[in-house]
Order: sequence, then C-alpha cells, then structure tokens
Amino acid sequence: MEERTPLIAGNWKMYKTGNEAVETAEKLLELVSDVETTDIMIAPTFTSLALVSKVIGNSNIALGAQNIYWEKEGAFTGEISGPMLVSAGCQYVIIGHSERRQYFGETNNTVNKKIFAATKSGLIPIVCVGETAAERNEEKTFSVLDKQIEKGLEGLTLDEHQSIVLAYEPVWAIGTGKTATPDQVQEVHFYLRDLIEKRFGNMLAKTIRILYGGSVKPDNVSELMALPDIDGALVGGASLQPDSFSKIINF
Ligand code: PEP
Repeated sequence: MEERTPLIAGNWKMYKTGNEAVETAEKLLELVSDVETTDIMIAPTFTSLALVSKVIGNSNIALGAQNIYWEKEGAFTGEISGPMLVSAGCQYVIIGHSERRQYFGETNNTVNKKIFAATKSGLIPIVCVGETAAERNEEKTFSVLDKQIEKGLEGLTLDEHQSIVLAYEPVWAIGTGKTATPDQVQEVHFYLRDLIEKRFGNMLAKTIRILYGGSVKPDNVSELMALPDIDGALVGGASLQPDSFSKIINF
C-alpha cells in the first residue's frame, strides 16, 4: 500500500437499541484504545448516533451515519441532513450501500446528490459500489462499476474527490459468508484505482482509499489487507461484536 492510512469501518445496519449500541461502543473502545496506525469508524443507527458519540468522544474511534439526505432542512419527513449528522458527532457517512440501492430505490443519481451534500457538510462519504451475482455471471462487473463511478461521482471537483472513500462491495458477498477471493478483490480494486487515475489523475489515484466489503471476518481480514490496492474494510455482521471487530481492526 502507498501512504494510505487503513480504515476499518463497521456498519451496524438496523441492529442495536440505544443501550446496546452504547454498551458495544464502550467495549470496543476498551479493546482498541491503543490502535494508532489504523482509522476506525462505527456507524450505528440514527437514534444511537448522539449516544455513541458521547461514549467515543475524541477517541480513536470515529462516528459515521448509514445514510444522508441532500437537502439541508425542510419538509422531508423521515430524512436527516448533513448538518444534523455533524451536530450528532458524525465524521463519516456511508452512501449508496447495496441494501439502500436494493430496498430503498437509491440510484447513481441519488448517490451523486448525497455525496455533494456530505462533502458540503464536511462529512467523509464512504461510497459503495459493486455488482450483483447476476451481473458478475454475465461478465458485466466492470461496466457496472464504470457507471456507478461515472454517474455517482459526476461533477465533483478534485477537492471534493479528495475527501471520498470508495468501498467495493460485491452484492453477492454481503452478509452471505461468501468472501470474494483475493484475486477477485485485487482485480477490481486495481481496476477502480486505474479508473480514478484515468478520470481524475495520478495524485488522486494514489491517495484515494478503497475499502473491501463482503463477509470480512477475523480469519480472512489479514489476507485481504495484504493485497496492494486494499486500504481497509467495510464490515457488517462481524462489526456487531466488539471481540470480532477488534480482531479485524488489529488485522
Ligand atoms: C456491509 O454491510 O457493508 C457488509 C459488508 O456486510 P457483511 O460484512 O455482513 O457482509
């Protein structure tokens, strides 16, 4: 890896009440308080953000949200804006997760609007891309990724790009226990970095962090992290338990 600080990010999805989230964050903090060379993020549900923010304070664990709406405020029942996330203590926001694309109608166009909103608020967007099993079987992986990157990042300035983290999450590997093989992961991460280089130049390609997500566990993380173009992991299931998540953080 170049001089990119690894990022291990936990997506808690729609799990844990406020009390449970606080308890998990407290235990995790104890287990990883001495980690200095890896960035750590946890993304609880909206209702736990402010509670968890109090637990992690200014520690080495950063807070992230799982979604954002692109307007600052207004009559948008059920939505949450960038400034609201910042005031709850967030530094990161996950955008375009495949579950949002699959169940909540998120498109490359809404992803694009959300990235703008996040960067404008000073949040670091973790932008998820990845193909479904059917798309991979039809050999459409790279064309799907091309479109997700082209449309998702459309119109962003180089400055805005510099704050982005990409996460390659093959949909068929999320929550299924099927991790992509190291060769498959490296092939796609190399492709994405090359795509970034062609579109936005060598400097950004060298510095942008590309995470892998899809059934990352304590026993496969070190193999994945050893790959040259993998700069971290976006972890779902295994981030819910402090023990397993701390093992991943200490890859
Ligand atoms: C995710 O939700 O982004 C994810 C990768 O989930 P899991 O680790 O459970 O596959």
